Amino acid sequence: MSVTRLVMQGEALAPGEIRVPAEAAHHAKVTRVAPGDPVEVLDLAGAVAIGTLARWDGKVCVVEIARLERERGEPPAPLVLGLAVLHTQAFDWAVEKATELGATAVVPVLAARVQGGRHGARVERWQRLADAAVAQCGRSRPPRVAEPASLTEFVAAARGVRLVADLGAPMPEPPAPGAEGVTVLVGPEGGFTGDELTAVRAAGFAGLPLGSRILRADTAAVAALTLAQSLAGWLR
Ligand code: SAH
Repeated sequence: MSVTRLVMQGEALAPGEIRVPAEAAHHAKVTRVAPGDPVEVLDLAGAVAIGTLARWDGKVCVVEIARLERERGEPPAPLVLGLAVLHTQAFDWAVEKATELGATAVVPVLAARVQGGRHGARVERWQRLADAAVAQCGRSRPPRVAEPASLTEFVAAARGVRLVADLGAPMPEPPAPGAEGVTVLVGPEGGFTGDELTAVRAAGFAGLPLGSRILRADTAAVAALTLAQSLAGWLR
């Protein structure tokens, strides 16, 4: 039986009975989750409470929590996606997929060929999408969606193993990330300029090839997060 996941952001979760208010329980109500069915409650801050639905009290869902799991589904160290801002909804999609793939932070990067403006106004929406995707995939916390950063800022702040998705680059040796984790950078639809790529490489980013076809940036983000984690041994 599939598990119903409800979100009570900021709630201090503990074993025993908890009352999930109507709004947070709405999803369980409409899908007719019944007493005895498995339910998980997420605080979006690293805790997953595992239990069963005890009873309905009107629209309030009473859940009996048996135990807590912490940091479920999180990578062993930070996994940062820097993705050049896409002016279309493809960026929404990429945020959702990056959440499913375990990214711990998503940084919208302002590269020379990024189109449109006022991207900072989109961050709140992207964070909401990440929060919602957490409940779907069962990990314990969403990635933090950062304010847009210039490419220079992003590159200067990058830590750990650094990879830039680059068509035609040789496959890097499998990295062994330490506590600083992995940072993956993907360019805009128009690609990075030659100067940008030179600067990124000079800052210690190794090229990461994703096959011989030109991928859309959102596809490249998914492929790069998957391949980087596979190389690092994080998908086992
Ligand atoms: N218009 C550009 C393509 C940009 S694709 C051109 O013709 O070169 C957007 C981004 O996706 C690129 O900057 C790169 O980071 C990534 N990307 C796309 N396809 C890739 C591939 N096959 N290998 C590695 N990275 C790729």
